[in-house]
Amino acid sequence: MKSYKFKLFPTEEQEAKLELSLDICRRTYNHLLSELSNGFGKSELSNYLLDLKVCYPEMKHVYSKVLQVETDRLFSNLSGLSASKKNGNKVGRLRFKGKGWKKTFVYNQSGFKILKGNEKNNLLHLSKIGDIKVILHRKLEGITKQIIIKKEVNNWYAIIQTDAIVKLECGDKEIGIDMSPSKFGVRSDGINMEMPKEIDVSLGKLKKAHRKLSRKIKESHNRMKARKLLQKRYWRLNNQKVNFYHQISYKLVKECRVIGIEDLCIKGLMMGYYNAKNFQKSGWSTFINKYLAYKAESAGCQIWQCDRFEPTTQRCSCCGEINPTKLELKDRIFNCPFCGLVLDRDVNASRNIIKYCRLGTNLCGADSSALEKEQESVMKQEKRRLSSEANHFNDW
Ligand SMILES: [Zn+2]
Repeated sequence: MKSYKFKLFPTEEQEAKLELSLDICRRTYNHLLSELSNGFGKSELSNYLLDLKVCYPEMKHVYSKVLQVETDRLFSNLSGLSASKKNGNKVGRLRFKGKGWKKTFVYNQSGFKILKGNEKNNLLHLSKIGDIKVILHRKLEGITKQIIIKKEVNNWYAIIQTDAIVKLECGDKEIGIDMSPSKFGVRSDGINMEMPKEIDVSLGKLKKAHRKLSRKIKESHNRMKARKLLQKRYWRLNNQKVNFYHQISYKLVKECRVIGIEDLCIKGLMMGYYNAKNFQKSGWSTFINKYLAYKAESAGCQIWQCDRFEPTTQRCSCCGEINPTKLELKDRIFNCPFCGLVLDRDVNASRNIIKYCRLGTNLCGADSSALEKEQESVMKQEKRRLSSEANHFNDW
């Protein structure tokens, strides 16, 4: 499945209809959730929709299949919750959605049509809403299966999902990556993966927006304005991060056959580290789980994790000896007293990471299959997590 995201340009009238659809979907979801606690099953809930339509005639303003999707969504949320519980996470219960919480609704299989004009003048026909102007800046491949309509801050987007299969091809390099608090990461071939400067600028603006909001009187008009500004800042920062993650993960998978990463306990680092903000900023685990893992899997590129107790920073990547003097965070250069190697500490660590990964596969003949199995199970877990996240529509 391939997803394309396009901006919509609705007229005022169409925007009101989109808002109405979103709100009716939200209320329907809440109704279904309340009935679910009364012990209703999936088929009973679908019938219950018909009863609801009699009680609330405004539901007729929304395309019927859009409302049916809400039933599926409720059950996929439920299964996501129970899967999370099985993984040992502490879970609560599904919550009713308050006003403005819901951001998406779905046209599945029918009720939509793309009316193609010239490149800058296409129309997206949505049943019960109308023909909305859309600029299709990318060529669509495959048959359109569903369209997700999403509201982001004050803009509307259509996420068009087609049945085209994305096939990436991996490269032939073996690269280890060391996560660094100051940069995003350092590769074993010496290339820095730095976060773009505009993310820092956005973080500064975000801080200002937070400060502005805190000074406003509660429930005032100015506070609402400040809140909208803050939303916009968060939205922009998130877009920049997502763009960066996509670009860098695509590049990595394109170049590598094997990617070695360190298995870090991010939570522990954030709790005890003075550099917690930098770790939070870089979002390393999000990058691995949400962006790198699925790309690597589809391209056949392998991701191996290096044991977190392996002293990758202290060990010399040339002779393999462990440096007796502990490197502090401020020491950026690694000096080996045994073989005289002088190297950037992060490059040294990333070389150790990929070396460790190679050891596990090449030298221990019998163990290598066990390791592969373990990696496979990690990948499967990753996949399960990704699919459950996709079910929650978190990514949209
Ligand atoms: Zn050495």
